[in-house]
Amino acid sequence: MAAAALVLVTACAPEPPTGPPGGVAPAGAPPTGTSAPVSGDGSIPKNESISVHDTGHVGIANLDPGLLAAVQKATVDAQARGVELRVTSGWRSKDYQQRLLDEAIALYRSEEEALRWVHPPEKSKHVTGEAIDIGPTNAADWLIRNGADYGLCQAYANEMWHFELLTTPGGECPQPIAN
Ligand SMILES: [Zn+2]
Repeated sequence: MAAAALVLVTACAPEPPTGPPGGVAPAGAPPTGTSAPVSGDGSIPKNESISVHDTGHVGIANLDPGLLAAVQKATVDAQARGVELRVTSGWRSKDYQQRLLDEAIALYRSEEEALRWVHPPEKSKHVTGEAIDIGPTNAADWLIRNGADYGLCQAYANEMWHFELLTTPGGECPQPIAN
């Protein structure tokens, strides 16, 4: 055991101190690990939101890179016009998506009604990282009007906050589907 550990340490030694994470942080490294592994189910508490630049949150980190880049760009442009885009939901684990569906079924006392609002895990674009929910209302409204410049479109008529990459930047968004 001790010998194996010693070999492991020795094998790591030639790495320069500025190399990839994995070993002991070199002196002078940022106090909070910018390279800390992100984990979790992607949940964001109700009535709370996070920044689309918060890539330390797994709900942001696991988003499709194209979607993330588009929303980050839109966020910067919106901010220049006095509108703050916040993320109320991004990537979700399958378990988290199922939990949201279970909660909706309990709330509506109807699976059929719940499914109008919450997709099952195998159907949700949040689980694949291809959807993002934006708030508050004025921010979602801004993105509905300007999102196509970034390829971002409102996907569902009954969810003004839910956006997906559905066109090319500067293209035209398809008509939102009912639900
Ligand atoms: Zn959504």
